[in-house]
Amino acid sequence: TFGDEEGDEEDWSSRPPVVTVMGHVDHGKTKLLDAIRDANVVAREAGGITQHIGAYQVVTELEGLERPITFIDTPGHESFTAMRARGAKVTDIVVLVVAADDGVMPQTVEALNHAQAADVPIVVAVNKVDKEGANPAKIRQQLTEYGLVAEEYGGETMFVDVSAITRQGIDDLLAAILLTADASLDLRANTEQDPQGVVIEGKLDKGRGPVATVLVQRGTLRQGDSIVAGDAYGRVRSLLDEHGNKLKEALPARPVQVVGLTSVPRAGDTFLVVEEDRVARQIADRRQARIRNAQNASMRKRISLEDLDAALKETRQLNLIIKGDNSGTVEALEEALMKIEVDDEIALRVIHRGVGGITKSDIDLALADDVIVLGFNVRAEGQATELANREGVDVRYYTVIYQAIDEIEAALKGMLKPIYEEIQLGTAEVREVFRVPKIGNVAGSLVRSGTIVRNSKARLIRDGAVVADNLSVESLRRFKDDATEVREGYECGIGLGSFNDIKVDDVIETFEMREKPRD
Ligand code: GDP
Repeated sequence: TFGDEEGDEEDWSSRPPVVTVMGHVDHGKTKLLDAIRDANVVAREAGGITQHIGAYQVVTELEGLERPITFIDTPGHESFTAMRARGAKVTDIVVLVVAADDGVMPQTVEALNHAQAADVPIVVAVNKVDKEGANPAKIRQQLTEYGLVAEEYGGETMFVDVSAITRQGIDDLLAAILLTADASLDLRANTEQDPQGVVIEGKLDKGRGPVATVLVQRGTLRQGDSIVAGDAYGRVRSLLDEHGNKLKEALPARPVQVVGLTSVPRAGDTFLVVEEDRVARQIADRRQARIRNAQNASMRKRISLEDLDAALKETRQLNLIIKGDNSGTVEALEEALMKIEVDDEIALRVIHRGVGGITKSDIDLALADDVIVLGFNVRAEGQATELANREGVDVRYYTVIYQAIDEIEAALKGMLKPIYEEIQLGTAEVREVFRVPKIGNVAGSLVRSGTIVRNSKARLIRDGAVVADNLSVESLRRFKDDATEVREGYECGIGLGSFNDIKVDDVIETFEMREKPRD
């Protein structure tokens, strides 16, 4: 989960759980989110109207304490998967909505697969229990097949019967979310760290310009901060909560609308706060260039099918996690990395950064994707090393910035195209040239070194200069028989396909291209 960073103990505080509602179409996700929004005790007191801003926080009461919960409320509900695909881990708990009159459906299974793959605990909301034909027991029964066993059946999953229409069970659902969070998650975040988080949604508002709903994941976002969100940047002019109230600051797990960006970021983009506007602009420019290049690359892909493989590699993205001994070096390293130029660019994305040693949760995050974990003047903790070794996570340590840059640059280039190296197979000296009907000229040769292999690549050398490259040994004969290879010291007939400009004393050099293993 997010927020489990290092830092001074006193900078840590517990944070609300972040919940995503998932389930089959028409099972009541939207209605349920509406019902929950209205159940907000604080909003009720304030009489405020809750706006739809992509995420909202409700405050509920549990055991006499007021406890906030953050809900991601984006249309389509694909955001969970979309964000995960982009490396952003937002959700702590998934509420799986299943209509009691309909039962487990394909998207129910899909949703629970995603949640389980992300190792996110599930609370099941058995919805529409007000309806005739509702069979909540059957839902419990069905879901046991997928490993979700209700507590009342001796399992570990909380099932709550609800109706988004009559609003029965909503408070129980909120309680179940908190109990699940308390039981299986240690949700804390460092409020003093450099603020960062994820964009939940972005839009262009007529009056206010670009508006992004962001979720703060660590640190404290404040009015006046210079931020970069994806390829957008700007100074935070105002922070607004879901009731439209202005906030001075936003703590971890707080969704807020940010006004003041120069353009609209995309859902799943990460945001970070930098010291100066100038730096924000630089990073944003860099990212814009990268996006343009990726778009160009995908255009090219459509044109040239031969380069499909390379083009696919081109559009790939290299994700990084940067850990360092202090926030200055982490920032400096990130900034330097963002300036790396690669011929045909691949997106370089820092999915997570932080101060302190590499932790197990860093490695967990790295497992979700192709990620290189960089430790700058820091090391991995014991458990993290074990996990990284076991799962083959690429962890690299540096003490010098330019070394990190060189290696990441090399990694980016490596992703671009496989590196091939030439492996010499053998050379042959042409002793005689025969004209063979239908085949063309055949070089009667003596193998001087190595082995001549049929179908291998070849080049022709005359007086020490390459006369022709890109040839291949299309026919190979020893006496009258076809041969697959002929070794040093033996004579053979070599045909170079349609290439006929062969002369006595030419040297035929043969080789193959082998993909160079990368380390
Ligand atoms: P979504 O596609 O999962 O977002 O589902 P909606 O929230 O749009 O609900 C689909 C339909 O089911 C709508 O017509 C809702 O009014 C209805 N619905 C949702 N929840 C309930 C409920 O608890 N009881 C009843 N009777 N109808 C519900």
